[in-house]
Amino acid sequence: MALSKTAPETDVSIHSTFASRYVRASLPRFQIPENSIPKEAAYQIINDELMLDGNPRLNLASFVTTWMEPECDKLIMAAINKNYVDMDEYPVTTELQNRCVNIIARLFNAPLGEEEAAMGVGTVGSSEAIMLAGLAFKRKWQNRRKAEGKPYDRPNIVTGANVQVCWEKFARYFEVELKEVKLRDGYYVMDPEKAVEMVDENTICVAAILGSTLNGEFEDVKLLNDLLVRKNTLTGWDTPIHVDAASGGFIAPFIYPELEWDFRLPLVKSINVSGHKYGLVYAGIGWVIWRSKADLPDELVFHINYLGADQPTFTLNFSKGSSQIIAQYYQLIRLGFKGYKCIMENCRDNAMILKQELEKTGRFNIISKDKGVPLVAFSLKDNSGHNEFEISDMLRRFGWIVPAYTMPPDAQHVTVLRVVIREDFSRTLAERLALDIEKVLHELDSMPARVNAKLAIANGEVKSDLRHAAVAAAKKTAVEIEKEVTAAWKKFVLESRKVNGVC
Ligand SMILES: *Cc1c(COP(=O)(O)O)cnc(C)c1O
Repeated sequence: MALSKTAPETDVSIHSTFASRYVRASLPRFQIPENSIPKEAAYQIINDELMLDGNPRLNLASFVTTWMEPECDKLIMAAINKNYVDMDEYPVTTELQNRCVNIIARLFNAPLGEEEAAMGVGTVGSSEAIMLAGLAFKRKWQNRRKAEGKPYDRPNIVTGANVQVCWEKFARYFEVELKEVKLRDGYYVMDPEKAVEMVDENTICVAAILGSTLNGEFEDVKLLNDLLVRKNTLTGWDTPIHVDAASGGFIAPFIYPELEWDFRLPLVKSINVSGHKYGLVYAGIGWVIWRSKADLPDELVFHINYLGADQPTFTLNFSKGSSQIIAQYYQLIRLGFKGYKCIMENCRDNAMILKQELEKTGRFNIISKDKGVPLVAFSLKDNSGHNEFEISDMLRRFGWIVPAYTMPPDAQHVTVLRVVIREDFSRTLAERLALDIEKVLHELDSMPARVNAKLAIANGEVKSDLRHAAVAAAKKTAVEIEKEVTAAWKKFVLESRKVNGVC
């Protein structure tokens, strides 16, 4: 039978089986198909292809929530068709976002007085939150410079070289020079003394991280604050601090309440946090809180009329879903302070178990800290034979996604494996992972070392471009040979590994 332009009725009876012609004939990949297909066929085709994605629960590369309670899933599905921006139509959703802002601001010890009343907004994530906070600092600095009759065309921002990529985006998109404090061997966060040294009259703010993405370590915001207060007094400048608490903002208030990193420090003018990390909500929610109205220049805020009342808005996008805001509110009231505390303690304990198991192997240096974001970052004591990328690659076979990456300057010679511990990562899984890592080590020990790659290449055991490198290398000095083979090997490993994103 020739294919007709419309779906024949006869297909209805078979379209839910694999015999359906919709499943047998391939769809154009990059062009809209000419005809419609039955809903069951569309579902089956997409669902089947998605089976090849990794299992989110075993994705240890990400801080982002992969499990919520079924009751919350129900609320999320019920609100999936609500556009958050229609505040007139969905006043309760707006009210829930305002409650979340209030709750989070209080967790961060925001001032509540008449003079200094905190402001905040829900965003798509910390990245949007950071763009907004950065814009507020830039505008405030420009306004001040204009008023003083000074040039305001060369703003800069001071951060550690360990910042998350969204700070680099902010700097490039909004034309602010990024001045990074370099890391060093054994010290993988921003050194507050060096950061303050880098501050000049064009610095719009210093950004500290509560929970470095690379090793989970909390930066010393208190010391930064104290050093910067002194510099401001000496110079007459007014350089503020932003805290990027994307991951740590929902950890520190619950298990390190004594740690002063938030609005208790006078120079901290804004803080962002990802609701979808340890706020325990699925991807798509972040928050930014400003210390006071004065820290958010008026000209950046738009005012919309909401049920006759004024609703200020400051976001980069217009339409977005409401579900994540509702889910955040659910978690806050469902868990309460004690619930969050329990979960964070549990994560910390599981991180500790994994850390101890890894230490027992005697093969790793642990470079995460006990106090920080619950993660274990570790590197091989000796990676001359086999390296961290190979471990990451081999763990995939067991279903684990554990990223390996090199540190930023000046610690780029250090390669790290990182396991993020989330709420749904149990003690059993921690023990299982440690066992699998041991298995991988054992297997690697019985394989030819990377430095013997030349032999494997010559024997044709690895890819041909490696063989070329080896043949060419044969004519060169020993140092050159080692360099080339290492470069080719790195390329081979990079090409064959799928994980390179850490988020
Ligand atoms: C995850 C993260 C970000 C980016 O946050 P999103 O919510 O994913 O946009 C920024 N900074 C730090 C320190 C992070 O850990």
